[in-house]
Amino acid sequence: MLLTFEPVLDRIAEEIADLTERGRPADYIPALASGDPQDFGMAVAELDGTVYGVGDWQRPFSTQSVTKVFTLALALARKGEPLWDHVGREPSGNPFNSLVQLEYENGIPRNPFINAGALVVTDQLHRMTGDASGVLLDFLRAESGNQDLDFDRDVAASETAHGDRNAALAHFMASYDNIANPVPTLLREYFRQCSVEASCADLARATGFLARHGIRADGSRLLTRSQAKQVNAVMLTCGTYDAAGDFAYRVGLPGKSGVGGAIIAVVPGRCTLCVWSPGLDERGNSVAGVTALDRFTTITGLSVF
Ligand code: GLN
Repeated sequence: MLLTFEPVLDRIAEEIADLTERGRPADYIPALASGDPQDFGMAVAELDGTVYGVGDWQRPFSTQSVTKVFTLALALARKGEPLWDHVGREPSGNPFNSLVQLEYENGIPRNPFINAGALVVTDQLHRMTGDASGVLLDFLRAESGNQDLDFDRDVAASETAHGDRNAALAHFMASYDNIANPVPTLLREYFRQCSVEASCADLARATGFLARHGIRADGSRLLTRSQAKQVNAVMLTCGTYDAAGDFAYRVGLPGKSGVGGAIIAVVPGRCTLCVWSPGLDERGNSVAGVTALDRFTTITGLSVF
């Protein structure tokens, strides 16, 4: 079926404008606390990179945990299956910054999308490349076609100054020999990674390789078809933390959220989406973002189910 996305996006934006309960911005990172829950943007990218958008779809924001998808793909492409010796792929059922499962699982985090797991993935990528955040930034620039993408040094500094929880996770896993780099090096890379600024248009395009079964924007292959399937599967089961079941129920797509208010989602073989609105629910997912994706898959029928 040929489908034009513009009327769908316009309709969703109108519905979102009427949404009264929109959550609160993340305030544990002071640089994000001033986000306005009324802000809203959404973009859909076709497989060829054509993008449709509505609202603030070209406005840069803090990508935060959305970057965990890209570092996972970059690490998996280099390391293959042995990556899973360091990090699991089961939903955690616990908050994204939780420590509790690490002790009885010997320092192996549940999945790559909670903070502990993302720290391990960034650690592995840094061990293999010597420049995890740089490799990530280059990849995002290439896939989005936006060479201006960059780190936000204020956000990275704000997270570093309030990074006790992530430092605790990293040190704890280091005590089980599951961290290869010095912890301060790893934290610097991780906070840089989280601080990348990008728009819905940038992220919808940059996610395209997951809808193209591993093929990058320039036609080269990053992941095997099977690895792309695996990343999408882990997004579906773990990408929205302890709300992944509800997200699958409502949206029915592989997705990944970040505390900056963004969520990316993949319709394999068809298109990719990014939605942004800074008001979060108590699990750290954008309230308007989940609602908009729910409406998108309901109106278009485009889901993996
Ligand atoms: N930088 C954030 C943190 O480490 C990322 C968390 C998120 O987006 N869920 O706490």
